[in-house]
Amino acid sequence: MFIDTHAHLTSDTLVNDTQQILVRAQASNVHKIVNICTDEKSLKAGLFLREENPWVFNTAATTPHDVEKEGESFFPFVEQAAYHKQLIAIGETGLDYHYHLSPKQMQKKYLERYLILSRKMDLPVIFHCRDAFADLFAIASEMSAAVLHCFTGNLEEAKKALELGWYLSISGIVTFTKSQALQEIVKYVPLERLFIETDAPYLAPVPYRGKVNEPGFLPEIAKMIAYVKQISVEEVARKTKENAEKFFRF
Ligand SMILES: [Zn+2]
Repeated sequence: MFIDTHAHLTSDTLVNDTQQILVRAQASNVHKIVNICTDEKSLKAGLFLREENPWVFNTAATTPHDVEKEGESFFPFVEQAAYHKQLIAIGETGLDYHYHLSPKQMQKKYLERYLILSRKMDLPVIFHCRDAFADLFAIASEMSAAVLHCFTGNLEEAKKALELGWYLSISGIVTFTKSQALQEIVKYVPLERLFIETDAPYLAPVPYRGKVNEPGFLPEIAKMIAYVKQISVEEVARKTKENAEKFFRF
C-alpha cells in the first residue's frame, strides 16, 4: 500500500476526472492521497471530494508563485479550514527563485504567515523550494514538522534539511535519466526520512513521461527508489507509508 503525499487532484487539469483517477489509484495500491489545494476553487472541491472519499486528505496554501496575485484573498480561507480541522497540513508554501513569479519579499512574507498559522494550529508544513534554500533555512529552521516536497536540491541542502528534522519527498523526477544527482541523494537519505509523491498532474514518471500525471503512477517512483537503494519495493512502500502516517497523523 502506497501513500501519495502530494497531488493536485482538484486542480483544473484533474478536477473533472477525479472519480476515474481515484479508481485507478486504488488499482495501483495507492490507498491514501494528500490533495494539495492552492486556491479557493481547489480547496472547495477538495473538501467536497473528501466527503465522498475519506481516504483523500486536504492541505492548503497559496504557492510561492501566486502570492502576489492571490496570497491575500486566499489566506482567510486557509485559516478557516485549518480552524475547522479540515486540513492535515499547511502547504505548499515556500520560496521559488527559479521561476520568480512573485517578488521575493512577498514570497517570504507569506511563508512567514503560513509558518505562524501552522504553529498556531499545530499542523505540519509542506515546503516548495527552488533555488532558495539559504533563505528557506534562515526563515523556517525553527519548524521541525516539515517536508520538502519534490526535492531537487543538492546533497548539502538535503543534509541540512535532515539536520532540522525535515522529511524529503521524492517525485517522478527521480525516474528521469538525467536525474543521477537526485538518485545519489536518495541513496544517501535514510528511508525513514523519505516520502513519495506524484505531484500530479505535473511530472509524470517514466514510462508515462509527457502524459498527465496521476496518483496511480506512484509505484513507478517507489520502484526507482527501491532500485537505487537496493531494497524491495514492498519495503519502500511500507516505510514511506509509516513516515507519512506519523507526519500527517492520519
Ligand atoms: Zn505541488
